[in-house]
Formats: sequence, structure tokens, C-alpha cells
Amino acid sequence: MKFISTRGGEKVTGAKAIVQGLSSDGGLFVPEKFPEVTQSEMDEMLEMSYPERTAKILSKYLDEYDAKELLSACENAYSKFEGSDPAPLVRLDDGVYMLELFHGPTCAFKDMALTVLPYLLRKGCDICGITDEILVLVATSGDTGKAALEGFKDAEGIKVMVFYPSDGVSKMQKLQMNTQEGKNVNVVGVKGNFDDCQTAVKQIFASEECNKILAEKGVMLSSANSINFGRLAPQIAYYFSAYLDLLSSNQIEKGEKIDFTVPTGNFGNILAGYYAKLMGLPIRRLHCASNSNKVICDFLQTGTYDTCREFIKTTSPSMDILVSSNLERLLFEVSGRDKKLTAKRMEDLKTTGKYSITEEERKIIAETFDGGYADEESCVEAMYDVFIDTGYTMDTHTGCAMKVVQDWYEKNKKDETKMVIVATANPYKFPQDVLYAVTGNDVKDSFKGIKRLHAATAMAVPKCLKELRDKPVIFTKTADKKKLFDEVLEFIK
Ligand SMILES: *Cc1c(COP(=O)(O)O)cnc(C)c1O
Repeated sequence: MKFISTRGGEKVTGAKAIVQGLSSDGGLFVPEKFPEVTQSEMDEMLEMSYPERTAKILSKYLDEYDAKELLSACENAYSKFEGSDPAPLVRLDDGVYMLELFHGPTCAFKDMALTVLPYLLRKGCDICGITDEILVLVATSGDTGKAALEGFKDAEGIKVMVFYPSDGVSKMQKLQMNTQEGKNVNVVGVKGNFDDCQTAVKQIFASEECNKILAEKGVMLSSANSINFGRLAPQIAYYFSAYLDLLSSNQIEKGEKIDFTVPTGNFGNILAGYYAKLMGLPIRRLHCASNSNKVICDFLQTGTYDTCREFIKTTSPSMDILVSSNLERLLFEVSGRDKKLTAKRMEDLKTTGKYSITEEERKIIAETFDGGYADEESCVEAMYDVFIDTGYTMDTHTGCAMKVVQDWYEKNKKDETKMVIVATANPYKFPQDVLYAVTGNDVKDSFKGIKRLHAATAMAVPKCLKELRDKPVIFTKTADKKKLFDEVLEFIK
């Protein structure tokens, strides 16, 4: 299968799309067409393990990768998860389920893809005959950074460098990154917010001069952000897997349509759900949940994407994003795959901070998507309500999704479509905020928060978070957002 750019004429193999990350015209790679999953394939997948299901989905897109090798890569990746199922579905209420994607090595859903991506990238280089050293540059709002560091640590021929907003991530997230071990990793805080980080990293990717300097040193850039198709592909699998789990436990019938609600930042997670739908998975609606930075929610309602607004720091930092990169892929689809128009809109976004789509396009999007948001108070309320009613504890990002689900049922009281809420982080990643939500107690220290939250919920504390307290801090540097390339050069010296 070939991949094309959302903005220009570039057409590449899957391996090349993954190695390169971003198209040379600045666009994102999308599959030339969406492979279908037939009913008989669905029947086969019903019996499969999670790694087998993922390998099956991946092989539909990445036909130049060996299918057996894909499977062993997935088995290896998901063997790093706690428990027997990497993506368990937990029943919350009649017809409402939590899809827990946080049982990986760094306790956030980013692990679902970033445990597989190193293989896809390493093998992709081999397939393309690339012998340069690969430098994976990551801009993170908190969770991608750690998952990439953990996924790529000590990978052969690959270095990974993470930039995070120095005051824009949670304490646990920062500590997770700054204590990272491995010979090939680097972490730098950036004075600014996530959008500043993402923009600065994208500029390095787009700069001919930077790429030339790196090429002279035998280094080629790649990305572990969800602009990379290699991040999206493994994420498509859990939408299928959740559906198959509902089917095999007789909660739905064959072909029955279901809904998903997804806490959204860069639009990568929910876009994977849309791709699953385009592949034939019976999805009725995708509910997009934002926090107070509700650019996407407003966009879905008005058809105008407008970033000219205040950036708000919230207790769900991984969703503190105004410029959602992956929306470009959705625009591309609903414009009838119009490259020129997509390029123009992205140019408008860059120069004016906004763009608009047509009413017709807005309606096409609204057939599948709707958006809601939770401000800080309503997120806490939603988390509290569910904790009191069911005993289930969720993290702050998932809390935003819960509020959006509550609002949906408020407006659609008789809706009987099964609802899957995607739970994106382990609650212990944000212990103080979650403790506050479920008990009303404030503590100043994250580890005290973990202790109290454990006392209140009896939920098991993941080892990787407990351990953090005694780990030495290795990275302490912060840099100006205009000087990130200097940091890159320093690192690869
Ligand atoms: C990254 C992240 C999100 C947002 O996911 P996108 O793919 O960027 O939309 C939501 N919740 C958590 C916990 C995350 O780490």
C-alpha cells in the first residue's frame, strides 16, 4: 500500500512514511485508500489475542513488512504491559464501558503505539535501505515524551530527543521524563507551552538547512508524534479489539453500531477511531472530549478552527493543545481528498491562526463526530459522581470524557447505543488532582497523593510510578524555543 501527502504530490511506501514521519511538503501521510476488514476477517479476529489483532490491522497497511515479524513485534511490545490484556474493557454501567489503555510501561495510552513504533521504524529503515542514524524528535504535552523514551531507549541506530513545556506538564510526567535511563536519550524543557514546542519541532523538520546539516553528519530525522502514521496504525487496533470484546461477550450483536468517546488533544487517538470506521468497523458516533482549551469542540459546532484565544493550563495537561495536528487528516478526507485546499487551510492557520470549512463539509463531519468539553470544575464533578456511584476511579483526561458522556445522555435520554469511553491514563499519573476529585483533599506532594489515593480507592499503584521517588534526576536543562536546533546539534555531537 502507498501513502500520499495531505498537501502535495508525494507518494511513498508505508516504510518510508514511517521513517520520514512528515511529508517533505509539510503535509501528513495518509493511506492512498483505506483497506477493508471483511466480515469473515472480523470472525477470525474474534478468536485472536490482542497482539494478533494488532498485527492483523498493521499488515493491512504495511504490506512490505513481513507478517510473521509484525506479529512477534506486537507480541514483544504488549508483553511489557501489566496484566493479561493490554486493552481491557471494563463495564461501568448498563451499556457503558471503559476501554483502559493505560496498562503499558509508562501508564498512558501512548504506550499502545510507542511500544510498537521502534520496530516499525527500525525495520522501515532496513526496508528503505537507510543507513543513516535516526534521530527521533518529540514534542510532548507530557505522555508521549516518556512513552517514546521508554520505547526507544537503547534502540540500535536510533537516538531520541524529547522537548516538553517546562511548566506545562504534571510533576509526575516531568519526573518520569527527567529520570529516564538509556544511552541514546535526551530530554529538554522548553520555555513556552506545548504549541510552542510542537511548532519549533515542526520547523526543524521543515527546514532544509537543518536537514542538510544533519545529513552531513549522517543523521536523519524522524517523528514519534501522532503525525507519524506509525503511531496511528497501532491505535486503530484497539477500536477493533474493543468491538470484538463486546461481541465475544455477547454485549452486542454482529454489525451493531457503537459509540466511542475520546479525550482529545492532538486528535490522534480519535482519528484512529475514524480510520477504523473507514475500514468498516460499525461505529455510529465518535464523541470528541476537550478540556477548557476547546478549539476542536468549537470547530465542530461552527466550522471555524480558531486558535486566536488564550492558552489555558489545566489539570489535564496532555490535552492542553490549541493546534491539533491530526485534524489535517480529517480535513483531507472530508474535502474529498483535496490537497490544494488542505494546504491552503494549513497556510491560513499558520498566517492568521484560523481557517474555516464549508457548511457541507461541516455536515459531513457532524454525521460522525460531535464535540463537548469539561471545564475544571465539571471534570472534577464527573470524576466524583462516577466514583461515588460505581467506585470507578479515572484520571483527569478521562474525567473530561466522562463529563461529555454525561452531557450526551442528558440530551439523548433514550439512547441505547453502547458507549465505550477511552480511558487514556492511569489515575496515579495525576495523583493530587484525582485525589482532590474523589475525596476533596488537597495534598502538596505527588507521592503523598499516591499514598492517599491508594488509601481512598485501594487501586493498585503501578510499580513504574512508585519507583520514581527514588530515581536520580538525569535531565535538568531548559532551553529557549528559538534555540532547539542548537540543543539537537549538541546532543548528536
Ligand atoms: C495524549 C493524551 C491525550 C490526547 O490524545 P490525542 O491523541 O493527542 O488526541 C489524552 N489523554 C492522555 C492521558 C494523553 O496522554
